Amino acid sequence: MAEGRPSDVGLEATQAIRRARGVVILTGAGVSADSGVPTFRDPVEGLWKHYRPEDLATPGAFQRDPCLVWSWYDMRRQAVLDCHPNPGHYAIARFLLHRNDAVLVTQNVDGLHARALEEVSTQEKARGSSGAQDRMLHLHGDILTLRCSRCSYRERNRDRVDTSSEATLPSCRTCGALLRPAVVWFGEMLDQGVLNAAFEAAARAQVCLVAGTSAVVHPAASIPQATAQGGGSIVEVNPEETPLSRLAQWQIREGAGVALPRILSGVDEYS
Ligand code: NAD
Ligand code: ZN
Repeated sequence: MAEGRPSDVGLEATQAIRRARGVVILTGAGVSADSGVPTFRDPVEGLWKHYRPEDLATPGAFQRDPCLVWSWYDMRRQAVLDCHPNPGHYAIARFLLHRNDAVLVTQNVDGLHARALEEVSTQEKARGSSGAQDRMLHLHGDILTLRCSRCSYRERNRDRVDTSSEATLPSCRTCGALLRPAVVWFGEMLDQGVLNAAFEAAARAQVCLVAGTSAVVHPAASIPQATAQGGGSIVEVNPEETPLSRLAQWQIREGAGVALPRILSGVDEYS
């Protein structure tokens, strides 16, 4: 594991990313912390301090009290819509656009990676998106998409949700059942196709850059291990140590909004 001044460690990580054939970037809530989106570990104020996310983000909670679960999601959706991508999201978006051997795997449901990619693609029209959108894998879904709790209906939706009664909650145009956020709840299966694509990309990659995740929620936390087992290296960006730190060749103990632009700039062409 690399030791020394953070700038030296960052430089070595940058060089490894520049030389790598295949880079997987795994992100978690910490990447959006610099945009003001709270992580699940941040202290909670007010109404929601009596609840744990594990008690709200479950199919059982939605069945018992859909108005309560929707109130929490309505608050989180508004919080996300009030936030903007930060320099870490933009650095990742530029990297995806310029390196077609890069794949982003995110646990975040806030849509900020996609918003950053849209903005950067518009700024750099000449390059087009070169399939970058398809190399962005959302492991845990998207909070701004709703899906039917019974059938396969889905819609993109940014509206406020009236949680005053079950009758005012959004319902399916096709079958009338309640709509729910299109996110993966605790106790639910991840989309197998997305998960397979993530593990395949990680196994092929020579570097896995892990940013802003506490690396405790599996199977996402095992993705970097697929890169390590294939002989690749791990770079970790996180102000705190995590269970993954001991596997990482380079640990950058800084916020993602500061570290990612530095280590991903100038690595968009092979050397
Ligand atoms: P987590 O809340 O468990 O951990 C966040 C990690 O980010 C911690 O290790 C922390 O040290 C680190 N961190 C804090 N500030 C940082 C910064 N500025 N730069 C870099 N790292 C920073 O998050 P997780 O590992 O993503 O797992 C939580 C689960 O909750 C995921 O499944 C995710 O879907 C969900 N979640 C998503 C969001 C979102 O979409 N923004 C927010 C909260 C929770
Ligand atoms: Zn339906």
